Formats: sequence, structure tokens, C-alpha cells
Amino acid sequence: RQAAFRTDISSLLEQVGTGKESLSFMKRRIRRLASQWGTAAHRLDRKLRRRWREQKKILVHVGFLTEESGDVFSPKVLKGGPLGEMVQWADILTALYVLGHNLKISFSVKELQGFLGVPPGRGSCPLTGPLPFDLIYTDYHGLQQMKQHMGLSLKKHKCHIRVIDTFGTEPAYNHEEYATLHGYRTNWGYWNLNSRQYMTMFPHTPDNSFMGFVSEELNATEKRSIQRNKVDNMAVVYGKEASMWKLQVNIFAMKISAPWKTQLQLQGKEGFLQILHRYMEIHGTVYYETQRPPEVPAFVKNHGLLPQQELQQLLRKAKLFIGFGFPYEGPAPLEAIANGCIFLQPKFRPPHSSLNHEFFRGKPTSREVSSQHPYAEQYIGRPHVMTVDFNNSQEFDSAVREIMRTEVEPYLPYEYTCEGMLERLHAYIQHQDFCIPEAPFPPANISKMWPGGPSGPFIILPNSTALGWAPNASAPPSWPPLSALQLLVSEEGQSCVEACQSGGLVCEPAFFRFINNKEALSRLEVQCEGVEAETNHVFPAFSVVQRECALQKDPLLFSCAGFSTKYPPPLPLPGLPPGPSGIVQGLL
Ligand code: UDP
Repeated sequence: RQAAFRTDISSLLEQVGTGKESLSFMKRRIRRLASQWGTAAHRLDRKLRRRWREQKKILVHVGFLTEESGDVFSPKVLKGGPLGEMVQWADILTALYVLGHNLKISFSVKELQGFLGVPPGRGSCPLTGPLPFDLIYTDYHGLQQMKQHMGLSLKKHKCHIRVIDTFGTEPAYNHEEYATLHGYRTNWGYWNLNSRQYMTMFPHTPDNSFMGFVSEELNATEKRSIQRNKVDNMAVVYGKEASMWKLQVNIFAMKISAPWKTQLQLQGKEGFLQILHRYMEIHGTVYYETQRPPEVPAFVKNHGLLPQQELQQLLRKAKLFIGFGFPYEGPAPLEAIANGCIFLQPKFRPPHSSLNHEFFRGKPTSREVSSQHPYAEQYIGRPHVMTVDFNNSQEFDSAVREIMRTEVEPYLPYEYTCEGMLERLHAYIQHQDFCIPEAPFPPANISKMWPGGPSGPFIILPNSTALGWAPNASAPPSWPPLSALQLLVSEEGQSCVEACQSGGLVCEPAFFRFINNKEALSRLEVQCEGVEAETNHVFPAFSVVQRECALQKDPLLFSCAGFSTKYPPPLPLPGLPPGPSGIVQGLL
């Protein structure tokens, strides 16, 4: 069946159900953004020129909101608890629905069992028949629940699963045996999925698929009126829970930091609020029960936790949105920038990661978080985003003054618009298929396929040297298209993610299998005296000093994020120019 775009959201709202604050929050959001989604659907429909899109049977099982996982989120929706996940799930549900797929939604293990057709009860019989869905979107909690309730059959069906995973899972953590042997074992990883089955909130490493969410969009008239009505000396603080305002000893406690360092941070924080107050009127949206939380200084005008819509109104007036370092990587800064604020945030030196910060400890990634919101820092930047050292009062002071003088337009990156998210999700649904094993290419018997030797460029190096094998029809179909492949060699200790970024490209993990071979290596300007195949998440790579080249033995470990100073430099980096919807170009 063909999928047809939907614009009437009433039956989606019915499916989401009632009875929990989290569900009400999601429904309010779906309702509020419905017309924006409708416009985007029309635009994408035109862009795709009514191309055939297969209607998929999709199950969405929101594990973290089930009672069985303890659901700590729902009771906190109106109390300043995290909302980012609910924002994202509401948007995923809407996008799948608007794209016209056949959707079932579950918020409990009982519903999950019903949809999967397994008898109720813990540890019950595995699903014996075929999976009644083409795709299942869930999270780590849901995955665990499926394992418990689908037993052995999960293994058989896992290629259909997509895991919504805010901060991402790197290949070294995903590979069970490798993670266990090499110290990458966490509470979350080790599912041996294709890493692209994990879908993140921001584009971290392209080893995972970038799912994202949306922010409110403004038309030209609204943008003009916002710019006219900006109050140059009005700041809103990012932090809806009082604990985000005090020294976050528990959240920020650095295992490696000395107590005096923590003390310095405290002084810094008090200092910068005072400095800000010299220039600006400071507003907050901190949840409180009966009286002002003691963490919020008296000079701050606290509105209490606001409904999303009212927060947007506040942001429309404010000039500055300021983060204190927590929460990390949430949706609010994008909303602020979309409403014409400048986002001022602390730089982290050294960067925060699972190796040095409590919040990230146990998360299946070694990603280094360079500021409160690295996406805003790296992908948006000035004039909309300023990332400074908050302990340096001079730097902070001059940033505030600069912000007051700077005129900015409301800005929303295309990948966070409804059209961008629909386009991306459409592309994933139509093109990503992890049930077909991806064979290495070229196959081992390449010389037979290619008796006359190489002819014609197939992979183009930056210096246009022809690098090629079998430039004939035997190349298997690839998505993204192989024609876009470019190779880079990274610096020592640099990951594919970084090397590609600095070359204006995106690391594309789907291309590793095409370059993980002797033929590809021998055509780079690399001297290989020996070529070995090993199980190591930094391979393929070569050692300049030892003149050794190493191939990847286990395709599950192909990693854009992997880097090592021990195996310099990783090679080669398949790259593509970034596309507008936040994934590679040529996606449609
Ligand atoms: N938000 C809200 N009222 C407020 C403050 C924030 O509704 O007073 C919403 C905001 O619109 C955003 C969501 O909370 O979409 C999540 O924001 P945040 O970036 O703080 O991420 P979190 O830590 O909640 O995941």
C-alpha cells in the first residue's frame, strides 16, 4: 500500500490516550504544532512529486513512560522535570503519522504484548510467527522489555528495531564482546545492533542516525514583529529546576577534580549572575511550590514553570537566553534561537564526557561535550550562539555587552523544521534496511572480476587520483549513493567525525565496507608493508611509522567516532557534503 500524507491529527491524539501528565504534555504539543506539520507535509509531498512511498506497519513502544520501567518522568512534567524526551517522542509520533504510516502506539508492556501477539505474562513464550510490524521504534527501556517478553525471537527480529537514544551509542559500546573485553561495557550498550539503528536527538556521530525533533517556525511577518519588539536588556535563564541554579555538586562533581576547583566554579557562577544583573533584567521559569526557591536570587523575576506556548512568548521578548551548564543538549536553546534570542553558554575545559562527569558516566559513548550545547556551538555559532568561559569574568562581561548591541534574526536550522524532520524520517524509512546483510565490497575474488586491472575512476580522492576497483555494475546498491563517496585521511588522533567536519564533509558509515580492502588502501598514498584484518573499532587504519595497514574484521565495529593515537591515523574517511535536513545529501 502507498503511504499518503495526513494532515488531520485527531486519530493520532486518540491513539496517544490519557491518564498521565506526560501524555497530556505530548498531546498539547501535537495539537499546537499541527498546522505547522500540515504545511510541511504539503511541501514535502510536492518535493517528492508523489513518488511511491510504501506504507509501513510501525509500532512505537515508549519504554521510559511505562509503569514497568518505573516511569519517573510523568510525575515531574509539571514540576520542572526533563521534557526533552517527551518533546522528541511527540514529534516522532507526529512525523510517522503525518507521513501516512500504519501506526500502533504502546505505553505499557501489556499493550506491547498485545500488539506483538505474545501471550501476556513475564518471561512468556517467544513470538513464534512473523513479526507483525515492519519497524519498531522504542528506547533502551523498551528494548529490555522486548527482550524479556519476546525471548529468543528478539534476536531474529532485531533488524526491524530503532532505538531512540538521546546521547547516542558508539560502535565500540554496542558490540557486546568487544565492549566486554575492552572496557566499553555499560548498563546500556551491548545490543549488537547496527549502530545506525540508534537514533539521536542531535547529530552526534553519524555512526548513529540523527532523528532530532522540531521547533516552532515563524513566518516573515512574525519574525519582523519579534525583532521590533525585542527588549535589549532582558535575559531568560535556561533551567526550570531549582537545582540547576545552585552549584551542581551532585551533577557536576568531577571525579578527577580537586575540591578547590569546585569552589572556584561556585564563585564563578555567583559572579557571572551578578555581572549579568548589572546590565540586564533577569527572568527565570523555575518550578516552585509555594515560595521562591532559595537557589534563585531575589533580583531574578521568576515566572514559575511555564506551558511551552507561554515560554515561547517570553523568549520572543528576551534578547538573551543563558545556560548555566545543565541540562546538556536540550531543545530549549533551539527554541530560544528560533525566537530571536542569542544563546550564551559555558565552554567546558576540559570537555565533559563519560570519563570525567557523573551525568555521562555509564552512557555508551566517549563523546567529548565541549559546552552545554555542542550542536548550538558547532552547527549554529555566532551571532546566535556565544560559547564563553564563565569563570573568566572579563570574557563574560564583554559577551553580555556584545549581545546587547547585536541584532539577530530568529533562526531555525532546516533540520529542526517539520519539513526537515519529515524528509529525514522519510529517507530513513524508505532506504535504511538492516535486515539485508551488507556484504563486503569488493568481494575477495576481486581479481577474477577485474581481469584487465583498474579502469576509470570509481572513488575519487581529493587530489583526483583514480582509486578504483571494478568500475562495473557489480557494485551493490548503496544508500547514500556511492557516487558521493570521497576519501580523506585524518590526522593522528583525529576521528572520522572530526576530520570530515573540518573538510566540510560528513562521515558516512555505510561506505566503510567499500573501502575496507587492500585495493582501496593500496591506491591511497599509503605505504602498506603488511595488511592485517583485526577486530578493532579504529580500523581500517594505517600506521605511518610501522607502514602497516589494518582492515576491519567485524563490520559492526566500523566507527566514525573511533580514534586512537596508538593507531595513527584512521583511514580512510568516507565523506559526503552535509545535506539540509541534517543527514547526508542525495537522500531523497
Ligand atoms: N519548557 C517549558 N516550560 C518552561 C521551560 C521549558 O515548557 O518553563 C520546555 C521547553 O519548551 C522545551 C522543553 O521544556 O521544549 C525541554 O527543555 P530543556 O531544553 O530544558 O530540556 P530537558 O532538560 O527538559 O530535556
